[in-house]
Amino acid sequence: MDKEIEALWRKEIKRQNQGIELIASENYPSMDVTKTCASIFMAKYAEGYPGRRYYGGCENVDEVERLAIERAKRLFGAEYANVQPHSGSQANCAAYHAFLKKGDKILSLTLNDGGHLTHGSPVSFSSQDYDFAFYPLGEDGRLDYELIAKRMEEEKPNMLLAGYSAYPFEIDFKKLREIVDDYNSKHDVHCYFMVDMAHIAGIVASGLTQNPVTYADVVTSTTHKTLRGPRGGLILSRDASFGKAIDSAIFPYSQGGPLEHIIAAKAVCFGEDLKPEFKEYIRRVLENTKACNDELARLGCVVSGTENHLFLLNVLDSFGINGKQAQEKLGQIDITVNKNMIHGDTLKPAYTSGLRIGFAAITSRGASKEDAIEIARLIFDCLKDPEFDIIEGRKKVTDISSRWQDVTNLTF
Ligand code: PLP
Repeated sequence: MDKEIEALWRKEIKRQNQGIELIASENYPSMDVTKTCASIFMAKYAEGYPGRRYYGGCENVDEVERLAIERAKRLFGAEYANVQPHSGSQANCAAYHAFLKKGDKILSLTLNDGGHLTHGSPVSFSSQDYDFAFYPLGEDGRLDYELIAKRMEEEKPNMLLAGYSAYPFEIDFKKLREIVDDYNSKHDVHCYFMVDMAHIAGIVASGLTQNPVTYADVVTSTTHKTLRGPRGGLILSRDASFGKAIDSAIFPYSQGGPLEHIIAAKAVCFGEDLKPEFKEYIRRVLENTKACNDELARLGCVVSGTENHLFLLNVLDSFGINGKQAQEKLGQIDITVNKNMIHGDTLKPAYTSGLRIGFAAITSRGASKEDAIEIARLIFDCLKDPEFDIIEGRKKVTDISSRWQDVTNLTF
């Protein structure tokens, strides 16, 4: 083994095992998923799709990819699935390309309210290739469906985009479909409805929230967040007739050879997510997230509330510090979080007024509701007290994390 990499690898295992990982976009896959990522499927070139490859020797990877597609379709009730996107961003790039022409307009959530870079950030390909317009959240920090309908009339988009990176509440996809249908019939046009469910895909798979596949024309996702799969992307549709355009938007338009080892690991992950135990896991994620949010509220903090795997903590109003300072302070005691803009934020993205806190990762390790409450108290003490004892704080974190499974050896 390469000594330099091995040393860093050991340090990372230690960091992840000792710490409390609360970054809402991260998770720990099962050992089966991890092992499959290192399988020899890695060595195989398989440009194209099952039964239509540009290389010989694809009989086994064809079966792997068919299995991944079939399981993805079953998991989400889709008529079409593409399991080749290397990441969520690649999936979004391909979905836009399959449905739109360069310069077409996409109506998406104001980025500071919880959108992703690929949803129209000036530094992303998305805003350079497409014309983005935005809808803000309502006063209460929730989606305002009347306002979205109004913005549709004002902007006349070719696509409405929903699904976010930092939105703690349920999304009414049925209502959004109705808004798009009403708009289309009123103007005799065809605006598409796309959902990027990267964050909530696991909750969707568990059946504990509305399934966007039932309502959207196209649904994109990552596979490494609440789904607990390998790092990668996924595209789904309820309408198989969109399949040809989406397939060619992935290969050959935006990607080359698919990562068949990752596709094999996606198949393992989808197989795990189809089991009843996965629904129980997601139920615990939701319970833990709410327990931490509610305990912080009880202690007097300004929190968003939550209906999914994450919530936002307003550290400026709660503790008089910004998100960057809060992230760094918690980092000193091995609690990993990320600073995040909150609705109506007055600070710049480099500082922010908030933290985004999620429970998917540590719940995979076995964190309980009691642990979540203890973590809330620790976060509160650490951020409230400028003289907080860092050594003591780190000890408390290790006490809590040592109750959980080793990150390198997780059972499903
Ligand atoms: N879409 C959403 C809503 C996300 O939150 C993210 C990542 O956090 C992505 C897409 C991009 O995924 P990736 O990092 O795999 O490109």
